[in-house]
Amino acid sequence: MSRPRALIAGNWKMNGRLAEATALAAAVAAGARAGGPELLVCPPFPMLAAVKGVLGAAPVSLGAQDCHAKPAGAHTGDVSAEMLGDVGCRYVIVGHSERRADHGEGDAAVRAKAEAGMRAGLVPIVCVGETLAERDAGAALAIVAAQLAGSIPAAATAATLVVAYEPVWAIGTGRTPTAAQVAEIHAKIRADLVARFADGPAFRVLYGGSVKAANAAELLSVANVDGALVGGAALKADEFLAIAAAAPKGN
Ligand code: PEP
Repeated sequence: MSRPRALIAGNWKMNGRLAEATALAAAVAAGARAGGPELLVCPPFPMLAAVKGVLGAAPVSLGAQDCHAKPAGAHTGDVSAEMLGDVGCRYVIVGHSERRADHGEGDAAVRAKAEAGMRAGLVPIVCVGETLAERDAGAALAIVAAQLAGSIPAAATAATLVVAYEPVWAIGTGRTPTAAQVAEIHAKIRADLVARFADGPAFRVLYGGSVKAANAAELLSVANVDGALVGGAALKADEFLAIAAAAPKGN
């Protein structure tokens, strides 16, 4: 079976001011080529509309880094998935480990946000991944399986949801798992998706955690890795585009 089209997603986190965000978006748009992997940038909320304007018709999708589960209401400081759709988002990251840690989001909350994204016509990118202590305890597979089971809505399909495996200990640390460790977890994620969903083979499963141009080709060629969720390296257009260029051809 052919692999799904790869997705190379940039999570800009809470970085940059408006001028930097629009310049970065312009550089990514200028280097984006139709026919390669799908490119996605996820700026902070206040920059979304401006970045959308800069991207114009370039083959680069827009996403947000979080959303609230409800469509509207008395939730000061929050942003609904519907609002994100209004400003041109196609994707929304949910359950990133920084949100799970900083905001106490558990699997049920992540699932509710993923459902909200799907309700609004966005594609949620649901993040899962173990801590170093969990890996050292030999629990990585079980932790990821439990997060997957708890965070992915029953109504998800390969067209409406993306999974990202991000070992917490690899995020922003410069450390990456070996190709064999990535392969083991991604094979388990694939098996769980196949067991649960009729189109499980077609779900895109991204790897995230210290991906950069220098290691992208190796990580992206691992079986069941259908793209990357990139943090720090997504803040440099050249580096981000080089990661995209390293994606295996034909997916
Ligand atoms: C991330 O935040 O999703 C991430 C993978 O960060 P980094 O690439 O910096 O490790």
